[in-house]
Amino acid sequence: MKPKIWLSSPHMSGNEQSYIKEAFESNWVAPLGPNVNGFESDLQNYLNENVHVAALASGTSALHLSLILLGVDNGDEVICQSKTFSASANPIAYQGATPVFVDSETDTWNMCPIQLEIAIKDRIAKGKKPKAIVAVHLYGMPYKVEEINKIASKYKIPVVEDSAESLGSHYRNQNCGTFGDFSILSFNGNKIITTSGGGAIVTKTLEHKEKAVFLATQARDNAPHYQHSHIGYNYRMSNIVAGIGRGQMTVLDSHVAKRRSNHEFYVNAFKHIDKITFLQEPEGYFSNRWLTCILLDSESTKEGLRLALEKENIESRPLWKPMHQQPIFKDAPKYLNGVSDDLFKRGLCLPSGSNLTDVELDRVTSSINTYFASC
Ligand SMILES: *Cc1c(COP(=O)(O)O)cnc(C)c1O
Repeated sequence: MKPKIWLSSPHMSGNEQSYIKEAFESNWVAPLGPNVNGFESDLQNYLNENVHVAALASGTSALHLSLILLGVDNGDEVICQSKTFSASANPIAYQGATPVFVDSETDTWNMCPIQLEIAIKDRIAKGKKPKAIVAVHLYGMPYKVEEINKIASKYKIPVVEDSAESLGSHYRNQNCGTFGDFSILSFNGNKIITTSGGGAIVTKTLEHKEKAVFLATQARDNAPHYQHSHIGYNYRMSNIVAGIGRGQMTVLDSHVAKRRSNHEFYVNAFKHIDKITFLQEPEGYFSNRWLTCILLDSESTKEGLRLALEKENIESRPLWKPMHQQPIFKDAPKYLNGVSDDLFKRGLCLPSGSNLTDVELDRVTSSINTYFASC
């Protein structure tokens, strides 16, 4: 069997262990510590725009804290992009709120502004104004920031920007991760940089960051004994994990460049196959191309190709199954136009890691060429 080619695997810089070693030598193995502060300031400098960053245990916990800080509570409704990974929607349920799913548009595959406004008007007409909007830059492609923000501010609904897949992307020269009332990042194992597992919340004010840290560290009141007047969470990132993050920040830009060059490589390699199309960057949009996704002409071509790659020990994956199609969310309200259903049927993510070698890329393209030559 040929060695496995992964969709997106961790890619270390070599600098990570020096930060971890430092943490061991100073016995900063506990949560908090210099690596946490260092990683947060690296992220703040990278994102710019005077944001504040709190490093957390995961992107999911960052989403959860964002909703708590926005006052989302039992019985509320929160609008969520349907085409996303389940972690965008689950924290809505943690709060006892109901997700209201909104479909995508075809330019970025992200939240459709038209469906968003239809949804908001209809929820208000039914008696409940949504408490927040969770919008996602999926696969690294920025959503239609200006259009979504315009609607959000028209109805005065805060936006939680899920930037888990889009660190290093930008929109009209402003970094993804700085557009929401709250934004979140993820450093899970498959993301563009990884800390083995981790995330961050990005806030506009220091006060909000401090509130997030307070909730993330068990909501301890200022007292010599353990005293609590809020429900707390254990959501903080540890100093060891943050050391990996500091090492990874030194290679973020080169990871973005490599993922973008993978995408270019695939575009060129499949120019002659008219059954394969790619998502293009609209003017002013810059995607980190976290994953290169292709659209096939039909569901059966897609599934045939996926199985052909699997036989060659090459991992590929259908585009994320929309939340409105997930069994757990089958009863949730939804506003659909057919776009995310179609993308799920015909779309496939290809190996896209920043550590892919030329030999591996050639194996992927020759397997795909062979498949199309035979069908
Ligand atoms: C990975 C991911 C998350 C969750 O991040 P974790 O760090 O794995 O909890 C949330 N939203 C999207 C779109 C993701 O891809």
